[in-house]
Amino acid sequence: MHHLFLSPHYDDAIYSCGGTIAKLAQAGKDITVLTVCAGYPPSSNISPYARSLHERWGIKDDSAVNEMIDIRRQEDKNALAIVGAKGMYFDIADCIYRLESDIPNSWFYQSDDDIFGRLNGNEDSLISVIARSILDIADKFSPNPNKIRVYIPLTIGNHVDHQLVRYAAERAFGAETLTYYQDYPYSKDRQQLKTYESSVDWTSTINYLGEEVIYQKIQAVAAYRSQISTFWADEQTMATDVREYLRAWGNGELFWRYTPTL
Ligand SMILES: [Zn+2]
Repeated sequence: MHHLFLSPHYDDAIYSCGGTIAKLAQAGKDITVLTVCAGYPPSSNISPYARSLHERWGIKDDSAVNEMIDIRRQEDKNALAIVGAKGMYFDIADCIYRLESDIPNSWFYQSDDDIFGRLNGNEDSLISVIARSILDIADKFSPNPNKIRVYIPLTIGNHVDHQLVRYAAERAFGAETLTYYQDYPYSKDRQQLKTYESSVDWTSTINYLGEEVIYQKIQAVAAYRSQISTFWADEQTMATDVREYLRAWGNGELFWRYTPTL
């Protein structure tokens, strides 16, 4: 069995299911984490919104963005080495850079509300491109679909890049074959899980984790050094937060499956 985790951004798979990945690796399983929005931004035509984010991130000019992507990829490699998974990367830019390819200034997402809103209808062709690519990758791991398990974000928090990955995986494999993970840290807000908890079409399973893999998960989360300040005051706060979150599920990570009733 090959385990393929689809991560919208660098860090999502580790944040959400790093303990499970470490546990699978310990059991000798083959694990790949594929980061979808891992590409460089376009060299020109950056939106005012993306520029304002660059300022917030301390990026002075557009060329420094590529260095940031390089740093994030290296952090990802370090994190995956800690939990024992391999990394793969698609050349797709983050949502804040995407636009209609031949129309200047036609950016799809130009505000915080946009990136947590609906996926832009013009991204349908990108969903198909991603779907085809992940099918190819899965086929290379094993032509027998029963020998590969694909994990994707449940899209808690509603980030458009998370929606992009979920829709692409559903188009490629069909929702009923997939294992959905809860997007941490967005999933700390239990309100957001209500739709799934109250639906008869969704069932959840907890993967319980021992102290050793919990520790590995925390080390791996810490490896994304540039991201700590986005979500936590410092590394110690992050470690406490990760532990508290896992404790809420009995020291485990929760996964969902779509099992529609007739
Ligand atoms: Zn993300």
